[in-house]
Amino acid sequence: MKLYFQETTTPWQPERYRYSAEQMMLTLFPGERPEYPEDLPRTLEGEPAAALFSLETQEDTAVLNAQVAWEGKTAQGKRTFPAADLDQDPHAVYHVVQHALKLAFYQAGTALLGHEPPWGALTGVRPVKLPTRAMKEGASPEEARKELEEEYRVSPRRAQLALDCAKASLAAQQVLGTGTVSVYVGIPFCPTRCAYCSFVSADVGRTMKLVDPYVEALLSEIEATGKALNQAGLTVRTLYMGGGTPTTLSAGQMDRVLAACKAHLPVENCVEYTVEAGRPDTITREKLEVLKAHGIGRVSINPQTLEDEVLRAIGRRHTAQDIREAYALAREVGFDSINMDLIAGLPRDSYEGFCRTLDGVLAMAPENITVHTLALKKGSTLMEKGGAIPSGEETARMLEYSLDALGGGGYRPYYLYRQKYMSGSLENVGWTLPSLDSVYNIAMMEELHTVVSIGGGGVTKLVDPEKGQIVRLPNPKYPQDYLASLDKVLSQKEELVRFYAGARPR
Ligand code: SF4
Repeated sequence: MKLYFQETTTPWQPERYRYSAEQMMLTLFPGERPEYPEDLPRTLEGEPAAALFSLETQEDTAVLNAQVAWEGKTAQGKRTFPAADLDQDPHAVYHVVQHALKLAFYQAGTALLGHEPPWGALTGVRPVKLPTRAMKEGASPEEARKELEEEYRVSPRRAQLALDCAKASLAAQQVLGTGTVSVYVGIPFCPTRCAYCSFVSADVGRTMKLVDPYVEALLSEIEATGKALNQAGLTVRTLYMGGGTPTTLSAGQMDRVLAACKAHLPVENCVEYTVEAGRPDTITREKLEVLKAHGIGRVSINPQTLEDEVLRAIGRRHTAQDIREAYALAREVGFDSINMDLIAGLPRDSYEGFCRTLDGVLAMAPENITVHTLALKKGSTLMEKGGAIPSGEETARMLEYSLDALGGGGYRPYYLYRQKYMSGSLENVGWTLPSLDSVYNIAMMEELHTVVSIGGGGVTKLVDPEKGQIVRLPNPKYPQDYLASLDKVLSQKEELVRFYAGARPR
């Protein structure tokens, strides 16, 4: 889609708003990619896909105009705001103008499309932040809902989802308190690679040889993290081990890693320990017993689907029966908080298949169920080689079923996020039985406090909620890169100490 920005007598540095225009373009016209031709056209008539933006002031009012052309038709959108808003500091001006541009684009785009997306004009990854902030600033839940539905045109169902998650976020903030962080320990190994995955290296066999040195490196990073947290006067509130598939580690390796966490990290006030056991082909009684012995209270056993044909299509080497057995084993070993992940929109799945899967998972009655929507990721086999993926409409029906079945089954949504290139422009939602929310998931997704990542594939996010400041410190993604740059990874922990001492990281 060609994106044009018209210079007007109102100076507005249009190039600052390219990203906002692209975000809305992807929301409304997901198949399009942006182009920025040099010359402005005399008219958009006849353009297959184009948008033209201008900003003008008329006395006390500023007007952001959007003209959009799509499949032989054109439509106009406009958004007005007080001209005085353009006299604020540059940061505030940016927010006002980008908001107006997105809504004007949305108005014109949806007029051409003839329908509105489920999340309306919201383009971000974290739609829950909006109602959370509104309620924190004193708005009632009803007012927060009204803003979502009327200002951002979010559908009533999605507005309710966001509102429920915002309430869970406010409750989680109380649990987190101050002076606390969460810790993420990453195990970026899996026995085989799923078709939709871009995370784990394609060369699984060769990578597995790195598990031993990786564990050694991890132990030194855990120790360095403990020192940094103690120096900064912080304690760990939640700890989450994810991946990859953490249970790719042997029982002995898992034991060493968890023992190091307990020995070096300030975990005396930790209220939640989760290990993503993940794939049933890696779960054994011995490993589960090691987790239990270290006080892990919550595990995730992730079927993604209970349809054997779909499991094969995504490259899993286990069956639905293996999932049921792994779940029963975890109960037997004594886990009373289990999460199960599902994905709507997998290759070779259907609406009926997804409903069967969800009903099957509900029958097992895990405490948490996370329903993801398939997102096509660059580098995944699915993106590169294709696959029989259900349409966006069929995936949307799956999600509608999940809202009915989970809501009707006594679960409530407690965190959600959206991703780029997600089927049907939908969302991932974590559901929970009453009062069994995973605080880590909320803290991480809503960026409520600092999450320190240890190991390959994680990103430390230093968060100052008061100042709204977030600093990202990524660790290398793949094990070989992590091992090669361990010194840098270890010294990066000093950034944490500096951040809490008030200095910005270098
Ligand atoms: S289990 Fe997760 S991380 Fe591992 S290959 Fe599959 S999608 Fe990727």
